[in-house]
Amino acid sequence: MSEVLTDTMWQAIVTCDSSHDGTFFYGVSTTGIFCRPSCKSRTPAKQNIRVFRNARQALTQQYRPCKRCRPDGIRLQGEEWVDQIAGWIREHYAEPITLDRLADTFHAGASHLQRTFKRLQGESPAVFLQQIRLFKAQEMLESHDLTISEIADRIGFVNAAHFSTLFVTKTGITPSQYRDKQAIDSVDRKADNR
Ligand SMILES: [Zn+2]
Repeated sequence: MSEVLTDTMWQAIVTCDSSHDGTFFYGVSTTGIFCRPSCKSRTPAKQNIRVFRNARQALTQQYRPCKRCRPDGIRLQGEEWVDQIAGWIREHYAEPITLDRLADTFHAGASHLQRTFKRLQGESPAVFLQQIRLFKAQEMLESHDLTISEIADRIGFVNAAHFSTLFVTKTGITPSQYRDKQAIDSVDRKADNR
């Protein structure tokens, strides 16, 4: 259960009043992130706010600490390490990346790495990698230089069918439909500019 949002609390949130820091924390139900009253992030819609007495209460309800105001106190241990891992995945997304390879590269046990990454990054390394690959695929589809199977290959998929299936799961359309749609959109844009 969360606490009642009083007018004083709401004012503290709106004005980023640091004198209330430590007296309560607020989470935003739409983002699943929680903050200190003084946090400088955009003020959320009032109805989405959940109030907590302490950080533990927020964490128990599956809220994640805001990276900006650090409501959990300290800079989380391992954060720099996770940033490095994320950076490495961004560079090497086209290669076969497994949890074991990450664990080897970053000198850690696989389950420790998985847990720490997920806690600080908000998703597992596998999901993070998948998001990057899909993003790159969309860029390549928009540029029209490569066939779908070439794209699948370049973003690290062993087979194009697997890539297409994942693409459909995540975006609701096939890679070729995505490509066609981009082409139509750009024609529309040109027409609008006339
Ligand atoms: Zn915050």
